[in-house]
Amino acid sequence: MEWHSFLSTPIAYLKGVGEQRASIFKNQLGIATFGDLLWHFPFRYQDKTQILPIAQLQNGSEWVQIKGKIIKIDEQGQGAKKRLVAQIQDETAIMDLLWFNGITYLKKQLKVGQNWVVCGKVNEFMGKFSMMHPELENPEEAQRENALISPVYPATERISSKVILRLQKELLAKLEPIFFPAFFSDKERLLMDLLTRKQAFWEVHFPSDLQNMEKARKTLKLEELLVIQTLMLQRKAQTTKQLQSYVFEKIGNLFLDFYQKHLPFELTGAQKRVVKEIRRDVQSGSHLNRLVQGDVGSGKTIVALLSMLMALDNGFQATMMAPTEILAQQHFHGISELVKDLPIRVELLTGNIKGKKRTAILEDLKAHKIHILIGTHALIEDWVVFDNLGFAVIDEQHRFGVKQRAALWKKNALPPHVLVMTATPIPRTLAMTLYGDLDVSVIDELPPGRKAIETKHLRESERLAVLGFMEKEIQKGRQVYVVYPLIEENEKLDYLNLMEGYNSLIRRFPRPQYQIAIVHGQMKADAKEAEMQQFISGKAQILVATTVIEVGVNVPNASLMIIENAERFGLSQLHQLRGRVGRGAEQSYCLLMSKDKLHSVAYTRLKTMTETQDGFRIAEVDLRLRGAGDLMGTQQSGVLDLKIANLVQDANLLEIARNLAEQILSQDLGLAERRELALAVQKMRQEKPNWGRIS
Ligand code: ADP
Ligand code: MG
Repeated sequence: MEWHSFLSTPIAYLKGVGEQRASIFKNQLGIATFGDLLWHFPFRYQDKTQILPIAQLQNGSEWVQIKGKIIKIDEQGQGAKKRLVAQIQDETAIMDLLWFNGITYLKKQLKVGQNWVVCGKVNEFMGKFSMMHPELENPEEAQRENALISPVYPATERISSKVILRLQKELLAKLEPIFFPAFFSDKERLLMDLLTRKQAFWEVHFPSDLQNMEKARKTLKLEELLVIQTLMLQRKAQTTKQLQSYVFEKIGNLFLDFYQKHLPFELTGAQKRVVKEIRRDVQSGSHLNRLVQGDVGSGKTIVALLSMLMALDNGFQATMMAPTEILAQQHFHGISELVKDLPIRVELLTGNIKGKKRTAILEDLKAHKIHILIGTHALIEDWVVFDNLGFAVIDEQHRFGVKQRAALWKKNALPPHVLVMTATPIPRTLAMTLYGDLDVSVIDELPPGRKAIETKHLRESERLAVLGFMEKEIQKGRQVYVVYPLIEENEKLDYLNLMEGYNSLIRRFPRPQYQIAIVHGQMKADAKEAEMQQFISGKAQILVATTVIEVGVNVPNASLMIIENAERFGLSQLHQLRGRVGRGAEQSYCLLMSKDKLHSVAYTRLKTMTETQDGFRIAEVDLRLRGAGDLMGTQQSGVLDLKIANLVQDANLLEIARNLAEQILSQDLGLAERRELALAVQKMRQEKPNWGRIS
């Protein structure tokens, strides 16, 4: 049989799979054909070639095998908490085995004095090791399977990993006489140290040793990633070809005047580079569709302003959209201040600007009397009509959806250039893969002179000291943020908590000596702004807030960030919040307040915060803790549910695949020479029609 017809054979043709089982396979695992089964890879392996001494175990080890004698069996607890605890001993140490189910059966099976081979995940508690629900094998049986690395498959209640294993054996036996068309050329295979395709499929399901298993996985991951990258590059080439946009031919007076006379600081090297990249785009005639990544505080705003000035110099208008009212206002004030000596008019438009004021702004916008319009979502409404919009900036893009970006495209005859900015630090190649139709620029350098923000994790018992520290900072003329969590499910309690905190701060820091501002989601917009202004202007020394201040707020005089119930925040949120301080020349601090007992994930989050300030590092830990599925914008696209590669963990393979894809597509024959790749790309195009069209 030919390879491709083999792959499309229905699974029911496999021995041991009837019609009924075939439909369970289809429904529960999405496996309908031989090909689907072949690509159903193990998610881990049990290394039965090794038995470890108990004393050498490590906390959290995923799957290890030990061998020893049962020395004690004990039934503990009552009712639902009932458990069976057995102690097993080898030459090095003793370990507990725990079961919460199947106790009656196990009691019959386990006897003191027996030898067992036991495998499972290791937990450590107070220096003592244990395994919960380990698998048991009698040593003779284990001996027979010895020297095997056995695969564990994603399974369901009705289809166990063992069943899948048996079917894979069946399938590979059938595949023996079939010719596998190559995916990589021989040269590529040798260069990248890969297995042949046939070997790779064989070794991934039935590894002969660990090294071959790794090579097999690498080979198949690269196959998958090459398909993705080829598809992304093809799509990108199509959009760029389709989309023409305005050419900003000259660098004019506004840009130059501002750059030479009004820039309040020297740009960092990274800022200069990104400005250049943007300039190249807008002079090219095709549409600029660029993502600027830069950690909190890296100075994205000034890059946005310089880009907008390029538009103005060429007779266009520009706009900047922010996700919150407060942030829009702040950009409005900040940018107005920066360009106050230039002959241009900047206005603000948000949902709260209504009536006559709004009418006037809309008229002037149409008449091109306004040059830069800053605002919130309101900007994209149909009734906001520009005379000639040439450049749009979207700040903190992860707060917006695809639709909003698309709406901005319609604001002029040709789509205006669109620059999106984000502080979410994900590796560059990953960003290019997730947001395939965007180019990516990175501001990977902070302005000089920033001091590390001293970060501490404190408990409630240290509250008094915290208050004392606040007072000291305020006496030095600094300002303090106090942030409370607010989540919808718990909203009522969270507000009580916030108000309680606010009131006790008022008692500790009474008027008129102190002013405390407060902002939260239940306040009216103008009240919020008034409070915010108190803090921005320096009249209030303390700002009590929910996470509304998370994005973008810039008060360089603030030197202390206190995060209450810090265990309830996500890691990237904590990082964003902390980024609100450390913006001036002063030493800044971040205090993470938590309850006493934390579960390990929360503890790791807070510990990570105290250890590093590197956004990429934090993002990595965050991804590890949450799993990649939560990455922004990826759920709807299904980007991350790949068969074997992992876009986050396999970043370096992703890079290799991207380079290879670029090389292939730049050759004359391109895909024509590569039938296997072309077919796979076609298949993925059908399966993931929206991929890369997000953000
Ligand atoms: P973000 O990237 O988080 O949006 P901002 O644009 O708000 O950062 O900039 C953070 C702070 O750093 C602002 O106070 C800004 O004026 C200042 N800043 C930006 N670029 C520089 C620079 N090159 N040198 C010194 N300060 C800078
Ligand atoms: Mg910003």
